[in-house]
Amino acid sequence: GRDYSNVTATNDSNDSDRLLGGLLAPGFDEASCLSRYQSPLYRKPSPYKPSPYLLSKLRSYEALHKRCGPGTRPYTNADRLLKPKQTGDPESEGCKYVVWMEFSGLGNRIISIASAFLYAMLTDRVLLVEGGEQFSDLFCEPFLDTTWLLPKDFTLTKQLSGFSQNSPHCHGEMLKRRLINGSTVSSLSYLYLHLAHDYNDHDKMFFCEEDQSLLKNVPWLIMRTNNFFAPSLFLIPSFEEELGMMFPEKGTVFHHLGRYLFHPSNHVWGLITRYYNAYLAKADERIGLQIRVFDEKSGVSPQVTKQILSCVQNEELLPKLGEQHKQPSEEEEFKLKAVLITSLTTGYFEILKTMYWENPTVTGDVIGIHQPSHEGHQQTEKLMHNRKAWAEMYLLSLTDKLVISAWSTFGYVAQGLGGLKPWILYKPENRTAPDPACGRAMSMEPCFHAPPFYDCKAKTGIDTGKLVPHVRHCEDMSWGLKIV
Ligand code: GDP
Repeated sequence: GRDYSNVTATNDSNDSDRLLGGLLAPGFDEASCLSRYQSPLYRKPSPYKPSPYLLSKLRSYEALHKRCGPGTRPYTNADRLLKPKQTGDPESEGCKYVVWMEFSGLGNRIISIASAFLYAMLTDRVLLVEGGEQFSDLFCEPFLDTTWLLPKDFTLTKQLSGFSQNSPHCHGEMLKRRLINGSTVSSLSYLYLHLAHDYNDHDKMFFCEEDQSLLKNVPWLIMRTNNFFAPSLFLIPSFEEELGMMFPEKGTVFHHLGRYLFHPSNHVWGLITRYYNAYLAKADERIGLQIRVFDEKSGVSPQVTKQILSCVQNEELLPKLGEQHKQPSEEEEFKLKAVLITSLTTGYFEILKTMYWENPTVTGDVIGIHQPSHEGHQQTEKLMHNRKAWAEMYLLSLTDKLVISAWSTFGYVAQGLGGLKPWILYKPENRTAPDPACGRAMSMEPCFHAPPFYDCKAKTGIDTGKLVPHVRHCEDMSWGLKIV
C-alpha cells in the first residue's frame, strides 16, 4: 500500500499535484470540501495533462460565472426577462445561461452535466444546475465565490418539470411548426432543449451549425438531458477548432472536466476515505469490478458468472485457481489483490469471495473481495442511497485496473475520473454469455448513447461515427459515439 504518513493535504510544496496540474483554482476553503485538495492522497497523478488553453478557458469561465452568477445584478436582470411583464434589460450585460434540469440516475447526471458545462464554455454561457438540497449534499461547489445551483426563486422554477417535447418553447417543437428563424428567435427570452435519450429528429437539430447560430442570442437555454453529448459537439464545425485547442489529447474530455467539476461533499468523502483505508489501502493492487445487471429480476445467472470469471481470469486481472495440495510455503512472497465490487445485489460477490477463500490461486496471490453496499434497486430519491452510489463510483475510480459493465454510465464516471481505460463486460444477448467476455476500451470517455445521425449540410442521414478519426462508435453500444 501507499504510505501517506508524511503527506498532508496542506503541503504546498506540491501545488501542481494538489491542483491537478492547474485544473483546479486555488483559494477555496479547504475544510468545507476536503475532497477537493485531498484527492491526490488517494489517486495517482494523472498521466494526462490539461492543455494551457483548457486552463485559460476554465479561468475565464470562472470569471464569467462570478460576474453573471446568482446574486449578481446581471443575473437579476436576466431573470427578469422571464417574467410575464418583461422589465429586464434585454442585453442583460452580456450574460447568457444554460440551465441543466434534474433528471435520471446519478451516473447519467454527472456525465450530462459535464456535457452541458462543455457546451456552456463553448458558447460563453453560465451553467446553472437544478437539483436542490440533494445536489449540494453530494457535491461541493466547483466555482470559487459563487454558486452553480439554480436559485429556488428562479422565475421558471415551477414550470421546469412541465417542460416537454411538445411545449411551445421547445426548440424541436418550434422547428417542427416552422416558428424558428432569425427574427422570431431574437424576441425569445428562453428556449427549452429536449436532449434526453428519447428526443426526436427536430430536437436533434440542436447539433446543427445553423441552429447553434440561432440559439446564440437566446439568454436562457433550459436543457433536459441524461446523455454525454460531447462527441457530437466535436462534429459541429464552429466548435471544432476550439475543442481541438482545449483537448489536443482528444479522449480526455470527461477525464478533465469531471475531475474539475465533481468533488464529493464531506459526507461522501467520509464514506470514500473510510472504505478505502479499511479495505483497499494496504493492497498491492486494487481491481475494480462494476457489475450492473439491467434485468433486475434475474438474480444470479450462471452465464453472467461465467462471463465475469472468464473476463478477469483470461485478461489476467485475477489469477486462476490452483490445486489444493500446493500451498505456498511460509517464506514465499505473495501479493494481496483487493477487488472492489459494486453491484445492487450480493450474488456475484458471494461467489467470488467464496471461490477465492475455498481455493488457492496458481500464483499464490491472495485475493480479498469487498463490496460496500447492495442497495437492491435504484432509489434516486433517497439521500443515503445517492451518497453511497457516488462514493462507489469514486472508489472504483481509485483502483489500478477497472472492469465495467456495458451500457452503464455509473461505470463511465469511474473510468473517466480515474483516467482508466477499462475492460468492458459486453452485454449478454438472449441470455448467452458473449465471446469474448470483455474487451479493452479505446478510451476512458463515456459513450454518447443517443447521438444524431444527420448531415446538417446535405440534409440527409449519415453515419456520424465515420466522419472523423476521433469520434467513433462505442465498444459497448454499436450506435453510440465516443471520443477516442
Ligand atoms: P446507469 O443506469 O448504470 O447508467 O447509471 P446511473 O447512475 O445513471 O443510474 C443507476 C442508479 O442505480 C445509480 O445512480 C444508483 O442509484 C443505482 N446503482 C446502480 N448500480 C449501483 C451500484 O453498484 N452501487 C450503488 N450503490 N448503487 C447503484
